[in-house]
Amino acid sequence: MLSYRHSFHAGNPADVLKHLVLAEVLNYQTIKDKPLDYIDTHSGAGFFELASSDAQKTQEYQEGIAKLWQHTSDNEGLNDYISLIKSFNHGQLEFYPGSPKVAEHFLRRQDKGWFFELHPRDLTLLEDNMQGRRSIRVRGENGFAGLIGLLPPASRRACVLIDPPYEVKDDYDTVIKTIVQAYQRFATGTYMIWYPVVDRERIERMETGLVESGIRNIQLFELATEADTDVHGMTASGMIVINPPWKLKQTMDKVLPELVELLSQPSGFYRSELLVDE
Ligand code: SAM
Repeated sequence: MLSYRHSFHAGNPADVLKHLVLAEVLNYQTIKDKPLDYIDTHSGAGFFELASSDAQKTQEYQEGIAKLWQHTSDNEGLNDYISLIKSFNHGQLEFYPGSPKVAEHFLRRQDKGWFFELHPRDLTLLEDNMQGRRSIRVRGENGFAGLIGLLPPASRRACVLIDPPYEVKDDYDTVIKTIVQAYQRFATGTYMIWYPVVDRERIERMETGLVESGIRNIQLFELATEADTDVHGMTASGMIVINPPWKLKQTMDKVLPELVELLSQPSGFYRSELLVDE
């Protein structure tokens, strides 16, 4: 039974980090003319209205995109992300794009987008939000299995986002098993894995699993809005990127300290690390 709805969380600090990294990666991957396959294993509804009762109930976007909305930065990476979100709005912050809409912004005629979503209501919304482009396919199927079925891609270039809700504790292990299988089929793809820090030990186990998997060229970017705790919910989130663009770490080394300053409490921190060398 799926209960997670991303509409309660759209635009929060975790989305800011996730979509900033996704935009950086896709921006780089679409420089070359060659076709690209983008695969989003857990897509959500794709686009969110911040005046909706779900977003208003939690107001999580107030701690994320709303704090950046009027900000001008010296960092190109952060400015590009803010401009991207502005392009979905008309002067006022009313809408927030999910990963499918962020990706669609970068995909060109020669690229393909594959979007998996299992929640029936979010699937219908996703289908509505992603209509109109023949190169985009929305699937109401399990994204973990769907990803494996698409590899290796005909284009021989792929960019993958794995962003499960981690409602089911097995998701932590399933992510690692899936990524190992995906990498065996297609080792040159760029894979992005989003993770929440609710229980630090779980993330340490994920990191160890990846480091010991034999997969090369892994970087990790994390934004903690407060110090780790075992008392209440998510305090941080991160993106693990396999085969990242060469400039990503350089960009994140500049962007993350600024995000901590803008979005975190005094106990907050960031991580920008090379987990496994090339
Ligand atoms: N990636 C989205 C974004 O950035 O806007 C947010 C996705 S949300 C964190 C996770 C989504 O995965 C939920 O909408 C949930 O219904 C869906 N989901 C859960 N298990 C799934 C599975 N095995 N395959 C595909 N979708 C799944």
